[in-house]
Amino acid sequence: MGKPTGFMDYERKTSRAVKPKDRIKNFNEFHIPLPKDERKIQGARCMDCGVPFCQSGIMIGGMTSGCPLNNLIPEWNDLIYNGNMQMALNRLFKTNNFPEFTGRVCPAPCEPACTCNIATNPVAIKENELGIIENGYEAGFIKPEPPKVRTGKKVAVIGSGPSGLAAADQLNKRGHSVTVFERSDRIGGLLMYGIPNMKLEKHIIDRKIDIMKQEGVTFVTNADVGKNYNAAKIKKEFDRIILACGASNPRDIKAPGRDSKGIYFAVDFLKGVTKSLLDSNFEDKSCVNAKDKNVLVIGGGDTGNDCVGTSVRQGAKSVVQLEMMPKLPDNRSEDNPWPEWPKICKTDYGQEEAIEVFGHDPRVYQSTVKEFIADKDGNLIKAKIVKLESKYHEDTKRYQMDEVAGSEYDIDADLVFIAAGFLGTENYVAKAFGVDLNARTNVQTEEGKYQTSAENIFVTGDMHRGQSLVVWAIREGREVAKAVDEHLMGYTNLE
Ligand SMILES: Cc1cc2nc3c(=O)[nH]c(=O)nc-3n(C[C@H](O)[C@H](O)[C@H](O)COP(=O)(O)OP(=O)(O)OC[C@H]3O[C@@H](n4cnc5c(N)ncnc54)[C@H](O)[C@@H]3O)c2cc1C
Ligand code: SF4
Repeated sequence: MGKPTGFMDYERKTSRAVKPKDRIKNFNEFHIPLPKDERKIQGARCMDCGVPFCQSGIMIGGMTSGCPLNNLIPEWNDLIYNGNMQMALNRLFKTNNFPEFTGRVCPAPCEPACTCNIATNPVAIKENELGIIENGYEAGFIKPEPPKVRTGKKVAVIGSGPSGLAAADQLNKRGHSVTVFERSDRIGGLLMYGIPNMKLEKHIIDRKIDIMKQEGVTFVTNADVGKNYNAAKIKKEFDRIILACGASNPRDIKAPGRDSKGIYFAVDFLKGVTKSLLDSNFEDKSCVNAKDKNVLVIGGGDTGNDCVGTSVRQGAKSVVQLEMMPKLPDNRSEDNPWPEWPKICKTDYGQEEAIEVFGHDPRVYQSTVKEFIADKDGNLIKAKIVKLESKYHEDTKRYQMDEVAGSEYDIDADLVFIAAGFLGTENYVAKAFGVDLNARTNVQTEEGKYQTSAENIFVTGDMHRGQSLVVWAIREGREVAKAVDEHLMGYTNLE
């Protein structure tokens, strides 16, 4: 521990965000990193406590508490404080292949679990993680390190999201020859075409992929395995296969008028916007544009928030975001104590921006769409909203959100983005490899294992656990790499 009294001497500080009215003018990242000396002081706030829940990554009450990667947080906080940034980077890479992604987009379950958070503010862990990796690039510590010896074994990874990439990185370092197949034109999965540019600028992904290429990983894009690319050919050519295709089957809203023009799934909208930005800085006009449109976002989660932030940047006339559940409390309730993940209402970046532009919170709670209303040409013009209330159902012995009779009202809506969650694996790829699915339509494995029902085929990430977080995807990628390495070699030294 660098400074035993640091947590009493210094206040928590995190990076400053550019003001909403300024940041909505573009799609750039908008956090201004802390200066190095300030970051050092933040490292000093870590108490190196005896039982560091921040790095535990356990599930409590169905929610993650602490870092799922078991990042060695107290160790690198100490190293930051003492100015040993090279060693801090080495310790960070021990558990996390991609701190440049988690340091930007992770919701940081480590921080609410920090012991300082019992009585005061947690250590700025995510900020420090980002500081270590970005300093590593600036200082030239990060260089391609291809393996010295190759094993002669070939592994195919299908899908290039954070989970597939983590598995590829680990197995390549071990000396196996890894090829990643991706159906999109760019590598990165939802990091590239899901999470908007203002949360993760895409050159950050390319920077890491370039290093992985120099280390020997092969990437094949526009290869939609099971459609335009033959799965049987991959089975024949590779010793082991890892499926890392995500949980990209979106949950639909089945209401009358669903076929009206102007209704899109959130990820299709977000992907189109990022692609147009990267391809032509929007010159090609190929994406859905919310300019001067009344936008309705269905779904109160993070994906819905990304649609709000994107619509505001495009110049929407109005934005409403529907959430089925009641608003969460502003502070932890008594039955949600530390170190549990705090179930509290947070106002995310897109909502902050909508408040700035329209003068009110875009979120409407306990509500859903009952009907989409189109004009005579089939273009969406309105949505009928209905209020919901929680009611106990004797037959199922569960509470359900039921419609409140007579509570319907219409709002103007030209564009709808459905961000109502995901239902799991797309069928064609599971079929192409002959793997069994479970009741939640994720690929079936034994509990805590990664081997599928098909010989030599493994699974990882959202395709295995259902829609989750980048940090869990990386964790699964590292775990599946261990399983594959052991299956190939009879033992594994991978961590
Ligand atoms: C809009 C949105 C915003 C999000 N924001 C955050 C966030 O801020 N922080 C966070 O922690 N998590 C966030 N998430 C969740 C996070 O992105 C995912 O949990 C994570 O990306 C899952 O990683 P994965 O590698 O398992 O799958 P994915 O990232 O989904 O990658 C799967 C890849 O497989 C490819 N693929 C699928 N089928 C085939 C095939 N047949 N052949 C070849 N390739 C195929 C897909 O094109 C895709 O590139 C967000 C999710 C969404 C939808
Ligand atoms: S990966 Fe996420 S949970 Fe882990 S230390 Fe970084 S910010 Fe915290």
